Amino acid sequence: MMLRDQDRIFTNLYGIHDWRLKGAQSRGDWDNTKALLAKGRDAIIEEVKTSGLRGRGGAGFGTGMKWSFMPKTEGARPHYLVINADEGEPGTCKDREIMRFDPHKLVEGALLASFAIGAHASYIYIRGEFVREAEHLQVAIDEAYAAGLIGKNACGSGWDFDLYVHRGAGAYICGEESALIESLEGKKGQPRLKPPFPAGVGLYGCPTTVNNVESIAVVPAILRRSGAWFAGLGRAKNSGTKLFCISGHVNKPCNVEEEMGISFRELIDKHCGGIRGGWDNLMGVIPGGCSTPVLTREVIENCPMDFDGLREAGSGLGTAAVIVMDKSTDIVRAITRLSRFYKHESCGQCTPCREGTGWMWRMMERMDKGDATIEEIDLLQQVTKQVEGHTICALGDAAAWPIQGLIRNFRPEIEKKIRARNSSAA
Ligand code: NAD
Ligand code: SF4
Repeated sequence: MMLRDQDRIFTNLYGIHDWRLKGAQSRGDWDNTKALLAKGRDAIIEEVKTSGLRGRGGAGFGTGMKWSFMPKTEGARPHYLVINADEGEPGTCKDREIMRFDPHKLVEGALLASFAIGAHASYIYIRGEFVREAEHLQVAIDEAYAAGLIGKNACGSGWDFDLYVHRGAGAYICGEESALIESLEGKKGQPRLKPPFPAGVGLYGCPTTVNNVESIAVVPAILRRSGAWFAGLGRAKNSGTKLFCISGHVNKPCNVEEEMGISFRELIDKHCGGIRGGWDNLMGVIPGGCSTPVLTREVIENCPMDFDGLREAGSGLGTAAVIVMDKSTDIVRAITRLSRFYKHESCGQCTPCREGTGWMWRMMERMDKGDATIEEIDLLQQVTKQVEGHTICALGDAAAWPIQGLIRNFRPEIEKKIRARNSSAA
C-alpha cells in the first residue's frame, strides 16, 4: 500500500511552501469554492457520507452522519460549527501542523461544513499552548475576510459566514466536546451528560456540530475530488488518508500523511527508517495516542493501521499518534506515568474517575516499585473495569485502557518487578 503523491491532501505538511493565501491558492485551495457551495446542503452532506470520512479526533464517528443530525431548518435557534483544535492527547501533533502550515484548508473547510449544517458562525477552539498556530489561523482568517472568501456573501455565494478563534487555557478535558462547549460559553470546562448530543443541545443550547481540525480540513478535497475518490483510498469503512504522528524509538520520528490501512511495518520502514536498533529491538507500541492500549510486536507488526484493524488487535486508531517503544523502555514505568497524567487531568466531577484515577495511579506506582503483590495485579484489573464505562465522559475509560493493555500484554514485566523487589528484600 502506498499513497500516491496526487492523492495527498496536505501538500504543505512540512511548511516548505507559503502557508498564506497566495500560496494556498497556488496549491488549489479556494478554487471556485462558490461552485462547491452551489451543490447545496444536502448534496454536500451526501458527498461526505459517500467518502466514508470518520472523525479524525479519535472516536471515528461518521462525519456525514454527524452533520445529518443537525435540524434541517434553522428555526429560532442558530446553528453552530465548533472546531475542536484543543489537541492534547499525548503523542498527538497533527492538527498543530495543519494550523501552522496549511491553515487555509481549515478555513475553507469551516465555510463548507458550516454551510452544510446551516451555521452562519463557527468557532475554532484552539489549545492555549498553540500560540504560533493561533497566530497563523488568525492571519488566514483575516486574509479570507479581506478577499471576500468568508464574511458577508462568502465567495459570492449569498451565504454569510463568520469564523472566530478562541484560545483555551490548558485543561486537557476541554478537548472533550461538551467540556469544550462549556468552556466556550465562559464556564468551567466540565463535560456534560450525553445525551443530549450537541446536535440537539450544544453551544448556548443551540444545535451544534463539533468536529476535529483534520476532519474539517479534508472536506474541501473531498468535495473537489468526490466522495468516491476518498472512499477508494484505504479499506471499506476505514477510508481516506490519515495523518500519523510517529514518535519514540524509531530512527526518524515524523508526522506523515498515509493511506488508512497501511501496515505498521510499512509505515515505520517507509517513513521512519525502521525501529531504533532493528525490528528485533521493538518492545511495544501505543498506536493511537495514550488512551489506546499498548500492543506487542507480534500483534502490531502486520496490523492495518485503521479503526477496525487496530480495534480487532485489541487497541484503537485514536488520534493515530503512534508511540514506539524499544526494549530499553521500562514499560511499567511508562504506563505509570500515563496514569499520573489522567489523575492530574480528571475534572473531578464524577466519583469513579475522580477516585479511580488516583487509586489506579497509586497502585501503578506500587507496581512500578515492585511494592505490590502478584494478586494485586488482578485487583488493579478489576478496578479498571469498575471505572471503565461508569463515568460521564471518556476520560475514565482512557485512564483504564492503558493499564488493561499493560496487564493483558505485558503482565510478566509487572511480575518481574514484584519478584525482583521480593527477592532483594529476602
Ligand atoms: P464518542 O464516541 O462519545 O463521540 C464521538 C462523536 O460522535 C461525538 O461528537 C459525539 O457527539 C458523536 N456521537 C456519538 N454517538 C452519538 C449519537 N448517538 N448521536 C449523535 N452524536 C453522537 O467519543 P468522544 O468522547 O467524543 O471522543 C473520545 C475519543 O477522543 C477517544 O477515542 C480519544 O482517542 C480521543 N481523544 C482525542 C484527543 C485529541 O487531542 N485529539 C484528546 C483526548 C481524547
Ligand atoms: Fe470529569 Fe473524569 Fe467524570 Fe470525565 S470521567 S466528567 S473527566 S471526572
